[in-house]
Amino acid sequence: MHRGAHVAIVLAPMISLQSYVRGQWVAGSGDTKTLHDPSTEAVLGDVRQGGIDFAAALEHARKVGGPALRALTFPQRGELLKAISAKLHEHRDELIEIAGRNGGNTRGDAKFDLDGASGTLAFYAQLGASLPASHHLPDGDGVQLGRTPRFYGQHIFVPRTGVAVHINAFNFPAWGMGEKMACALLAGVPVIEKAGTPSALLAHRIAKLIVDNQLLPEGAFQFVAGSVSGMLDLLGAQDTVAFTGSSATGIAIRGNKHLVARNVRVNIEADSINPAVLGPDVESGSDTLEQFLANVATDMTQKAGQKCTAVRRILVPQAMVAEVQEALVERLRAVKIGNVMDGDVRMGPVASSEQLRDVRAGIQKLQAVSDTVIGGPQSIAEKGYFVTPTLLRAKDVDAAVLHELEVFGPCATLLPYDGTAAMAVELCNRGGGGLVASGYSDDRAFVEALVAGISPWHGRVWLGSEKTMGQAIGPGAVLPASVHGGPGRAGGGEELGGLRGLHHYMQRTAIQGDRAVVGRSFGRDAT
Ligand code: NAP
Repeated sequence: MHRGAHVAIVLAPMISLQSYVRGQWVAGSGDTKTLHDPSTEAVLGDVRQGGIDFAAALEHARKVGGPALRALTFPQRGELLKAISAKLHEHRDELIEIAGRNGGNTRGDAKFDLDGASGTLAFYAQLGASLPASHHLPDGDGVQLGRTPRFYGQHIFVPRTGVAVHINAFNFPAWGMGEKMACALLAGVPVIEKAGTPSALLAHRIAKLIVDNQLLPEGAFQFVAGSVSGMLDLLGAQDTVAFTGSSATGIAIRGNKHLVARNVRVNIEADSINPAVLGPDVESGSDTLEQFLANVATDMTQKAGQKCTAVRRILVPQAMVAEVQEALVERLRAVKIGNVMDGDVRMGPVASSEQLRDVRAGIQKLQAVSDTVIGGPQSIAEKGYFVTPTLLRAKDVDAAVLHELEVFGPCATLLPYDGTAAMAVELCNRGGGGLVASGYSDDRAFVEALVAGISPWHGRVWLGSEKTMGQAIGPGAVLPASVHGGPGRAGGGEELGGLRGLHHYMQRTAIQGDRAVVGRSFGRDAT
């Protein structure tokens, strides 16, 4: 087989995706959404939006899945995650093929998603192995509460007794589902996974692998192929919603009056106009510049720019704009675009005709305040949802649209700035809250001022320098050991970050009483 080419596995024609609820695969009913191959527009299958008894699915999770998971210790739950991770790895080639057909992913893009999923599951499996063989986690040290040491307090985390409803975006069908599932299951909470529809074939296949191989206790995992809107109205105080998707949908979910009235925990991972800042000290030919250019070009083209963490605003000191622009154009020109089943293609299409429409319209809005350096919204193929990599240069960095509009495709804008940390901070923060900001500099004073200024507005700050060249995983990757999420328009949520990712699914309770009892049963040494 040609290295880099997809393996030839023929998908069954026209699959109608089923949901897995209450231990059975169930056909949907009602409105139909068609699934396409975004490279060819060929119809692959469909998803029906209704037909699932949500109340029964929730009951099954709470009554069957929850108790089964809570009966296990953390290391035992970790073993479950390890098995899922291994199964994904075992089926990697088949899954890459599906990601190519239904997601428009190149082999590299598909691996990024799948290895992200299996890697995150493996990370949490290992974390589980390192946790106590118990059913709760101590949170910090115990404290004396009374006048004498006798009256004592200890915070603990216990699994909540509800269900975790996970609503995933279309762009990472494997990774998005894997990372949410890993945290909830290790915490001891059953999951109901809803896939983003345009790329749902991959999530559906992963769900089949989990179910058919009985990798989880019954009720711990359910999968909904269609809509879950009505399900949210049925959630209660012990349940959790974790959503990933656009700001608009996130706001609608957060505003659901039933969720608000019952104080249901909601975590929102939304979109972000991520900035990358080139420091004023960075010179031609330096490793720091090289890293900056490589990461920006990767972010613009990997997954055809459909990453929530992809750079959208490229801040470059005035004096370096011409050089950076030229270097990026050279890199973007070299990217071969086309049907991802062709082995040497480096960038595929966007995921759906709706995405194509939105990306084109978004580019036009940015063009109204920018010069087009390369690319644009024009069609580049008769069939398929292709967009050419588009680099723009702001005419006026104050134009609000540059800081407010996420074009979820291979498009980013150069923003010339005066080279001061103050201006860089001000421009970065105009995004209104972001998932990740990256800074490239070997000037410590600049880095410190940048970090101090932008940290309150970004969930993650990624720093590139001479020393990290060849050592760092780029800012676009979400690593399970670090938190993911961001304030403001990024949703105000937080997930992952090692043990922190479990807390969302657990109740922190302060246990107060006789030191001998509290310390022995619930303290650090007890577990
Ligand atoms: P989306 O349209 O907001 O949809 C996200 C998910 O919500 C999908 O599963 C969708 O189902 C579901 N959904 C839509 N309306 C709903 C409602 N009223 N109630 C409950 N669920 C509802 O976003 P998308 O187009 O899939 O994803 C792209 C966006 O996600 C981009 O803006 C990107 O920045 C963001 N994103 C953020 C992160 C992050 O970690 N912060 C990661 C990836 C992507 P259907 O597909 O069936 O409509």
